[in-house]
Amino acid sequence: MIIANTIKEVRLQIKAWMKEGKSIGFVPTMGFLHEGHQSLIERAKKENDKVVVSVFVNPTQFGPTEDLESYPRDFEKDTMLCEMTGADLIFHPDAKEMYEKGASTLIHVEGLTNALCGKSRPTHFGGVCLVVSKLFHIVSPDRAYFGEKDAQQLAVIKRMVKDLNFDIEIVGCPIIREVDGLAKSSRNAYLNTQERAAATILNKALTKGKETILAGETNVVKVKNEITEIICKEPLAKIDYVEIVDFDTIAPVKSIKGNILVAVAVFIGKTRLIDNFIIQA
Ligand code: AMP
Repeated sequence: MIIANTIKEVRLQIKAWMKEGKSIGFVPTMGFLHEGHQSLIERAKKENDKVVVSVFVNPTQFGPTEDLESYPRDFEKDTMLCEMTGADLIFHPDAKEMYEKGASTLIHVEGLTNALCGKSRPTHFGGVCLVVSKLFHIVSPDRAYFGEKDAQQLAVIKRMVKDLNFDIEIVGCPIIREVDGLAKSSRNAYLNTQERAAATILNKALTKGKETILAGETNVVKVKNEITEIICKEPLAKIDYVEIVDFDTIAPVKSIKGNILVAVAVFIGKTRLIDNFIIQA
């Protein structure tokens, strides 16, 4: 497995692979890899000749008071995990390599970024779209793999790829969970023992909401209230949002019909966790 720190190295390798007619799968990450990331790498390996994983804690997607400095990092472990899972190249640039002085271009996806996480993190998706566009130009993949764990991000990237005519297939992959249902996340490392136990409330509440929808409920307010009430019973939990939207447009829906995203963001202590389910109702 190749470890590349510069854009030039990545481009040279990609060109060589392209000359050999190899297809390229790409998995962008912020590192501190776990089974969730691994599932994307495995899927990419199945569907492409070569797999590139980027490990880059992207400063432009963090707000000024967010956890950029403390975000967990373990590049040695990430390297091992990528190698084990069959990645062919890790791109591990520093911030200077990705953002040169004077860089002035921004990318804004209108509409889809106003609600859910975009509401509480107004600069977040601009940073995500900028870094993902740059990485797409550097890696030139045939397919790129994103987790449904970040469902709004997946919807935003799909929209951006359409709007900017990237010739890349975006593949959404299911959420990988701990045995007790908590969605795997690098940020779970912030939780102490009590908080870790409390964090299971997100999936518990969503599971109940899903059962209610599967039983035929189409009333948005009723399902939102049910999920909210369950989360509120957990003293360590503070809700950022409980939302039910159209998965493709992230627009509010009048009733639970079509391709629906039910998403929550909840602070457990100081740690903000997200979870969701997507349902064809
Ligand atoms: P991150 O390193 O958190 O930026 O995540 C990199 C990619 O891994 C994103 O596409 C995430 O949606 C995906 N991902 C993170 N956690 C999970 C999970 N538990 N299951 C599936 N995909 C995940």
